[in-house]
Amino acid sequence: MEAMNETVEQSLSELRETFSSGRTRSLKWRKTQIGAILEMVRDNEDKICNALFQDLGKHSTEAFRDELGLVMRSATVAIDCLDKWAVPKKSNLPLLFYPAKGKVISEPYGTVLVLSSWNFPISLSLDPLIGAIAAGNTVLLKSSELSPNASAFLAKTIPTYLDTKAIKVIEGGPDVATILLQHQWDKIFFTGSPRIGRIIMAAAAEHLTPVTLELGGKCPTIIDHHTISKDIRSVVKRIAGGKWGSCSGQACISVDYVLVERSFASSLIDMLKPTIKSFFGENPKESGCLSRIATKHHFQRLCRLLNDPRVKASIVYGGSTDEEKLYVEPTILLDPPLDSEIMNEEIFGPILPIITLRDIQDSIGIIKSKPKPLAIYAFTKDENLRTRILSETSSGSVTFNDVMIQYMCDALPFGGVGESGIGRYHGKYSFDCFSHEKAIMEGSLAMDLEARYPPWNNFKLNFIRLAFREDYFKLILLMLGLKR
Ligand code: NAD
Repeated sequence: MEAMNETVEQSLSELRETFSSGRTRSLKWRKTQIGAILEMVRDNEDKICNALFQDLGKHSTEAFRDELGLVMRSATVAIDCLDKWAVPKKSNLPLLFYPAKGKVISEPYGTVLVLSSWNFPISLSLDPLIGAIAAGNTVLLKSSELSPNASAFLAKTIPTYLDTKAIKVIEGGPDVATILLQHQWDKIFFTGSPRIGRIIMAAAAEHLTPVTLELGGKCPTIIDHHTISKDIRSVVKRIAGGKWGSCSGQACISVDYVLVERSFASSLIDMLKPTIKSFFGENPKESGCLSRIATKHHFQRLCRLLNDPRVKASIVYGGSTDEEKLYVEPTILLDPPLDSEIMNEEIFGPILPIITLRDIQDSIGIIKSKPKPLAIYAFTKDENLRTRILSETSSGSVTFNDVMIQYMCDALPFGGVGESGIGRYHGKYSFDCFSHEKAIMEGSLAMDLEARYPPWNNFKLNFIRLAFREDYFKLILLMLGLKR
């Protein structure tokens, strides 16, 4: 670990030196680096897909949708929009400040630490990297130890495409993360669990380092079957896609559990079963389309959740597991107890609890009884329910009549609130995430107001009072001696 500490210190001082040199401030440099990321992904499509298959059993089509394609789009958008994003924003100052002028410029924080996650090890590394470079920072990326092939690819390939004095990659687990966190960074961007998020924030507090924490949580999905019955087939497909179609439910924005009225539960289960079969065939384990569980630890965690006798009794579909293949069958639970672990911990796997309610309006109470989720999904056309969801609950995002697509849409900010995270990124929001918005005020020496300075008197107090109210008419009267 002594050697690792030295490596980190050396890397950090080189990154700081590069930042101080001013090289990363040039928009041309930023675009060239982001262009190199794009080229790296394009050139290595097969290698990346192969690494993702090795690490997670991820199908190459799924990998392209959730990782490569996403990164390519992100890079293209950043290159195309960077000039516009980086332009100083003129501020319209109140007349009171005339003839001063104001603007806001985005300045890079400096040297940024990005700690990424294993479930989307390519996109969750490269997407923040694109944002950090777009904003003009130097970056140290620590990829996850739980996706060793993807991490090895990044560590080996990034230095061959990017400016190695400005962008560095370190592989490693908690011990390496601990060393990294002992150093001072200008910004920390972390993707992972709320538990480790707390450790990151505590370490950042030492140096008052700004943090972005992209965390997880349980994303509830409301199905108001009364208003969407005509489209129920699409709804069921979207739920199944949102549970099993992206890294086997090991995604922070996966459908975690479903809320429905009691009378609709059995129809939903009857529709979900054939949908699962149509996605993954009779034997999902051999389909090649269902990612596997990332590690033995996560496999055992899922088995523990399922092995609670009360939860086991609620299995209405699936439930089989294979430790050797790290496989958990797509599983549906009907009304597992609300106080069970599976209903209080983020599932992060292919198990779907269906919770039944007397009235779908009661879903609001269930959601409010839990920590603020990263996403709420609601299939409903009921305006009253939609309004209640928006005004009575808090979450990173709300998506009506769909699941997970909000993540793909870089025109919207992506991030959590409360237990599901701090800060947001994607598209322009990524540029802002890695920039400090610096206020610039250009004062004028053309005139000076005595009311600003001591000695104080009633005239000055009145002047200040009216100035705060921007009551220019009365200010003029006061100055002309026509008002006291
Ligand atoms: P985790 O928090 O256990 O691990 C994340 C990273 O933290 C790892 O790379 C690890 O090296 C590091 N780490 C572990 N112990 C540490 C310590 N003591 N000190 C410092 N760093 C340490 O997360 P996980 O279980 O691997 O991933 C799943 C979680 O990540 C879920 O909660 C999921 O919702 C969340 N997640 C969120 C997003 C998002 O975009 N919001 C995306 C993916 C995953």
